[in-house]
Amino acid sequence: MKTSVIICAAGRGERAGFEKNKLLVPVNGQPVIYLTAEKFYGLTDEIIIAVSKEDESEIKAVCSPFNPIIVRGGKTRTESVYNALKVVSGEAVLIHDGARPFIAEEDIKGCIGYVERYGSAVCAAPCTDTVCTAEKGEIISVPDRANMYRLQTPQCFKTEDIRLAYSLAISDGETYTDDSSVYLKYIAPPRLYTACGENVKLTYAGDFKEFAAIKAEGADRVGFGADVHAFGKEQNFITLCGVKIPCDTGLIAHSDGDVAVHALMDAVLSAAGLKDIGNYFPDTDDKYLGADSINLLKEVVKLIKTKGYAVKNASVAIQAEKPKLAPYTESMKGNLSAALSVAPECIGISAGTCEGLGFVGKKLGISATAAVLLTQIQGR
Ligand code: MG
Repeated sequence: MKTSVIICAAGRGERAGFEKNKLLVPVNGQPVIYLTAEKFYGLTDEIIIAVSKEDESEIKAVCSPFNPIIVRGGKTRTESVYNALKVVSGEAVLIHDGARPFIAEEDIKGCIGYVERYGSAVCAAPCTDTVCTAEKGEIISVPDRANMYRLQTPQCFKTEDIRLAYSLAISDGETYTDDSSVYLKYIAPPRLYTACGENVKLTYAGDFKEFAAIKAEGADRVGFGADVHAFGKEQNFITLCGVKIPCDTGLIAHSDGDVAVHALMDAVLSAAGLKDIGNYFPDTDDKYLGADSINLLKEVVKLIKTKGYAVKNASVAIQAEKPKLAPYTESMKGNLSAALSVAPECIGISAGTCEGLGFVGKKLGISATAAVLLTQIQGR
C-alpha cells in the first residue's frame, strides 16, 4: 500500500514565544521540522509539508534531503490539511504535527499497519492524570480516567475517506484541531492506536530545553563485563588495572592477565553493542602475547569513539583472596582514568574477598566484574 505523510508546519507556534516559527528552532543541532521529516523518510513513499508563505523557502531548504512536496497552508489547520490532501498520491495518508519530532519508527509502522487492518489509526496516549470538564472555574464532571486518552499524531486514514471528510468540513465552514474529529463527524469512529514510544509535542520554550536535554542524554548506554584468571604463573606479581602488585604467583593468561581491565573492556564493548574482547584481541594471536591490557583498553576506547561514544563513568569490582589490594586502588584508578579519558572521580574500584568460598576463596584465581556508562558524543 502506497503511503503519504502530511506534516503540518504552517502554524506560527506562537506559544513557544520564539522570534521565528518554532519548527525552525534547532533541537540538538537540527531544526525541529528536519527531525520530524527525517522520521518519515524511508517509512512513507511521499512526504508533503504544509507551510506558511513566510516560512516556505526556509522549510523547503531545511527539508530538501527528504524531497518533500511543499504545499501552502491555509489560515487554519483544517484548511492546511485540506490543501495538502489535494496532492496526496498514496492510498493511505498519515497526518502529523511538525512539532512532534520524537515519534518512534515503530509507531509510524504500527499506524500504517492499523490503517491496512482497520482503515484508520489515531495515535493516542492513555491519560495518567485525572481529567475534568469545567465551566467558569468550576469542575462540572470528572470522567472515568480509564476511558480517557490524549490524542496525538500521526493520525492515519485511507486517503479517499479523509479527503471526503475534509471537503465536507470545508464546505460546512467548520474548523477542527485534529483529523480524528473530522473523520469521526463525517466518516466513522476512528481506531485508537496506543503509541509505544514517547511522542511529545514541543509547544512551549521550556519543552525545547527539557526534551533537547533528554534526547542528548537519551543516547546513554550501559554495559557489563566479567572475567576470571587463575593463579599459577611462575612470577612474583600480578597486574590489575595496569598496576603491578607483588604476589607469590602470577595470573595465567595470554596477555598480562589484567582480569579487571578485561572485565572493563568487555563492559565498554558491550555497552556500544560490539562483540567481546576475544573477538578483537584473540588469544590465538601472538601479537597479544604478554600484551599490556591498558593499551588494549585504549584501543577499545578508540573503537567506541568511531561509533560515536565516549565513557561517562566506570565501576570495577574485584574479588581476590590474595594479595591485599587496598594500597593499590588509587593508582589503579589513575591508570583507568587516563585510559578512559575521564576524571578519576568517574572511576570506582572496589576490592573484596570471597570469605573463603569458591575458587576465589580457595585462592585459585581472581574474578572481576565491571559496569560502564557510555554517552553519545554530540555533534558527531
Ligand atoms: Mg581475560
